[in-house]
Amino acid sequence: MTALDLRLPQDDLADAWRTARPRPAGRHLDTAACSRQSNRVLEAVAHHARHEAELGGYVAEATAGDLLQQGRSVIGGLAGMAAADVAFVESAQAALAALLAAWRLPAGTRVARTPGEYAPNAAMLRAAGLESVPLAVDGDGRVDVAALERLLATDPPRFVHLTHVASHRGVVQPAAEVAALCRAHGVPLVLDAAQSLGHVDVDLGADVVYSTSRKWLAGPRGVGFLCVRPAVAAQLQPVLPAPADLPPVRGLESGEAHVAGRVGLVLAVGEHLAAGPVRVRERLAALGRTARQVLDGAAGWRVVEPLDEPTATTTLRPPDGVDVVATRARLLTEHGIVTTAAGPERAPEEMTGPVLRVSPHVDGTVEDLEALAAAL
Ligand SMILES: *Cc1c(COP(=O)(O)O)cnc(C)c1O
Repeated sequence: MTALDLRLPQDDLADAWRTARPRPAGRHLDTAACSRQSNRVLEAVAHHARHEAELGGYVAEATAGDLLQQGRSVIGGLAGMAAADVAFVESAQAALAALLAAWRLPAGTRVARTPGEYAPNAAMLRAAGLESVPLAVDGDGRVDVAALERLLATDPPRFVHLTHVASHRGVVQPAAEVAALCRAHGVPLVLDAAQSLGHVDVDLGADVVYSTSRKWLAGPRGVGFLCVRPAVAAQLQPVLPAPADLPPVRGLESGEAHVAGRVGLVLAVGEHLAAGPVRVRERLAALGRTARQVLDGAAGWRVVEPLDEPTATTTLRPPDGVDVVATRARLLTEHGIVTTAAGPERAPEEMTGPVLRVSPHVDGTVEDLEALAAAL
């Protein structure tokens, strides 16, 4: 261990993040599932709910209108889009469902995706009648950009769907290169940023970006959003079009909603911007690197990601005969360490077995990772 340099950058960020939140009951290494909200976010959500009881739900929503519009603006900004391109929905999955329902592409329309696509996304593409065209990938599941260029030049799909960072593996897709190629060939890129927004840079030129509040942005559960560039928005036909005085994408926004949750998300995004997205990314990438150094080989568990992958998500393959679900439960009950057991059903065309997923936010420490290694 002495040969390793385990110092982490941006310790002040970790302290501020920790101080801003309720004290955790144990070691929370599960951001990729659900983050811990800050006191300010929790209070803003409660405050809005209270406002609903005092003023009436619709009156309270109207008073939050400016804040929600600022939120659309900053969320759009993180994805390289404008406030008018952003719709609030309930989750990332709800965003994809709303997009596909409104796009109304004919059955059999070809859509390119990686074999490692998040299984619920692949199922939704299938349910929408779309035919999946597999993208060539390397051994880490990363898109083969040269092969993509050939596909786009010779037999272009209607759109490319790409999950920026997988749920089952902390590997970042070359989304900027993919976006540039898609743009050059006039093929829209739809980016699932559920594991990337607030974690790695998402301002890359995708045509559609959708994500969720509760993971790396540390907002409330039950809130997500969908950002659509005008050229794609013009192809959408929501069941109920947006009122004439609103941008067309607002036709995809759910009318009845957990408005307090949206208010909380806007505050959480504000806190992310105040912390500095670049500094957050630096610390998260360093945490991932450190986690892989500390955890690879611990009790025979093996890290899946390349050491230097710039994410804070590390997945571990178990040694022979060790059950991942039971290990995850044991870590929680005996050591207070929160992780996720991810089974191969999450990405059946790519995963060959279950993994233990470890995903600290910026408050993660070397001590947390060493405690996990010891508990394993
Ligand atoms: C979590 C996740 C989703 C779904 O997000 P919800 O907000 O739960 O709908 C989609 N894609 C990926 C890659 C995810 O990790």
